[in-house]
Amino acid sequence: MNQLFRKITAIAGLLFLAPAAVAQMNFDAVQIEAIPVSDNIYMLTGAGGNMGLIIGEDGAFLIDDQFAPLTDKITAAIAELTDQSIRFVINTHYHGDHTGGNENLGKAGALIVAHDNVYKRMSAEEFMEDADTPKEALPVVTFTEDVTFHINDEHVHGFHIGDAHTDGDTIIHFKNANVVHMGDIYFSGLFPYIDVDSGGSIDGVITAVNRVLALSNADTKIIPGHGPLSSMDDLKEYRSFLTKLRSKVSQLISEGKTLEEIQEANPTEGYEEWNWEFISSNRIVESVYRDLSGTVN
Ligand SMILES: [Zn+2]
Repeated sequence: MNQLFRKITAIAGLLFLAPAAVAQMNFDAVQIEAIPVSDNIYMLTGAGGNMGLIIGEDGAFLIDDQFAPLTDKITAAIAELTDQSIRFVINTHYHGDHTGGNENLGKAGALIVAHDNVYKRMSAEEFMEDADTPKEALPVVTFTEDVTFHINDEHVHGFHIGDAHTDGDTIIHFKNANVVHMGDIYFSGLFPYIDVDSGGSIDGVITAVNRVLALSNADTKIIPGHGPLSSMDDLKEYRSFLTKLRSKVSQLISEGKTLEEIQEANPTEGYEEWNWEFISSNRIVESVYRDLSGTVN
């Protein structure tokens, strides 16, 4: 893990802060880096979830938009790559480090697209403490199963797979370029966050990973929600981690062990390097325990 990446993951710990807390943060030192993925597709990093971008004569299409204070830097980074404006934004899910720029970009004229449950979670009072998300920050177009954009010589297919990281995740597949953006279904080289309080589940994450592996080959480039640009082999290792963790925790639950006893049994053994500021081994084990034991509030 290089130094820049450590910094990004440290800042990504902001994931679930309320908008007011994000407003207190200083984003001055954050730089937006555009990492080429194919001829006209980029992974953009700054603070928060990795973004995806496809450019071309039909306009720029952006996947996720990090935090509102970064919008000017993000649009400046995109302007270095294309003279076209941002025409579409698709949100991989509702978390604030993936949707924070929606209001700014919506006001600037981008059409915001997401799964139905992203709209629900960003707008409904039962999910938001202060359901005052401005209209411009909300998705304008939502879908239940999938959506395809035929732009920039690509077929950009966004599809939903049940309850995974949350209940409103979209995976985006650039079919011609053989590139996939997985949102927070995939944390590469890091223990993942499974938001069981927002409908997430480990079985859904494993199902989604299998779906992506089924459409991938050795040349596929995979953009994770957090962590570096990855390959099919990296994703296979992640699947192996998830299935091992699931089976160990499930076994220990069936033996009547408590959460503390399961954490002490160290079911993430061998993956110590995946500990990071936001998700420790104990935290991922707790999420999986609550999911599998049915103790989610
Ligand atoms: Zn997330």
